[in-house]
Amino acid sequence: MTILVTGGTGYIGTHTVIELLEAGQEVVIVDNLINSSIEALHRVESISGKSVSFYQGDVLNKAFLQKVFTDHDIQSVIHFAGLKAVGESVVQPLRYYENNVTGTLVLCEVMAENGVKNLVFSSSATVYGDPASLPITEAFPTAATNPYGQSKLMVEHILKDLHQADPSWNIARLRYFNPVGAHPSGRIGEDPNDIPNNLMPFIAQVAVGKRETLSIFGDDYNTHDGTGVRDYIHVVDLAIGHLRALDRLSTNPGIVTYNLGTGQGYSVIDMVKAFEKASGKTINYQIVDRRPGDIAACYADTQKAHNELNWRATHGIDEMASSSWHWQSSNPNGYSD
Ligand code: NAD
Ligand code: UDP
Repeated sequence: MTILVTGGTGYIGTHTVIELLEAGQEVVIVDNLINSSIEALHRVESISGKSVSFYQGDVLNKAFLQKVFTDHDIQSVIHFAGLKAVGESVVQPLRYYENNVTGTLVLCEVMAENGVKNLVFSSSATVYGDPASLPITEAFPTAATNPYGQSKLMVEHILKDLHQADPSWNIARLRYFNPVGAHPSGRIGEDPNDIPNNLMPFIAQVAVGKRETLSIFGDDYNTHDGTGVRDYIHVVDLAIGHLRALDRLSTNPGIVTYNLGTGQGYSVIDMVKAFEKASGKTINYQIVDRRPGDIAACYADTQKAHNELNWRATHGIDEMASSSWHWQSSNPNGYSD
């Protein structure tokens, strides 16, 4: 069976493609390389010893997508392609809505026209906004606080309407918590284009000497040490969650929503300490003002994914930090090395 992976040369996409190839699936990737490198694809092929059909192009381009569906007997789609920088989405809302929402509409149209109705969609824990309590279950109310989160929520609603109109669609909406870490080979990982927005790549760049000091955004939150708490999940665990979601859709058709997290919250300071232990380096940091829009704490209730997907994260904080360090220290400049 052939699986189309949009955004397959990106951070989560590459790790998922490796797991798919190892499970014996045929994979086709569509990516416009706006936030990734062709070198990532070469490394995926070298790690897995298998080849992947790659199409460089945009999911907004219907004729281009149609050709991919004509060339291959695609059965299911994992849709990672999207823009993901929250701050950038506030400055460029139209670009984010077009790419993330219209891109998904075009993809679904082409899928429907080709009779392909199995879809796994990358959503985010950001759709929960600032939760009233913790841990967060899938039944919590949703509320987006920025255009990026809003685009994820809009697509979730569109997919629900699509399934309601045509119940032969099988759709998994996966709400990721905070993906971190890298493949154990150290050859693929997160490679931010610019100054990292996210905590872990920033810490990794301080450890490797690319940046001087980590700014910790606030130490006056109501958390165990005052810094923000998140549910960090190893990207390999996250990748495997997509395979379990595809299995679930094949045995239990319908539309489903799952949290993919570990259920465990760690603070910014916890992550700094774990990284210092893994790397043997000191992470210089300073406490600065809170980042606007940040919440104090966020972690998942993972019971539903465990019960229905037979999936649970198995990597702990030390493996998250050590794999991230392995990738960063072997590739200080990411894929351009
Ligand atoms: P990424 O930027 O590394 O990967 C996304 C890929 O999609 C990139 O390779 C990019 O070039 C490609 N792309 C973007 N727009 C495209 C388009 N219009 N046509 C074709 N390709 C396009 O990001 P990631 O971290 O791997 O995230 C994958 C998905 O998961 C995204 O949808 C993101 O919003 C979602 N997500 C990510 C996180 C996270 O923290 N990394 C958390 C929750 C949800
Ligand atoms: N954070 C930080 N400094 C940074 C980046 C992030 O202190 O340079 C904090 C941020 O305030 C939050 C946590 O680290 O408490 C995770 O932030 P990230 O941007 O990685 O994920 P998100 O906020 O989207 O959950």
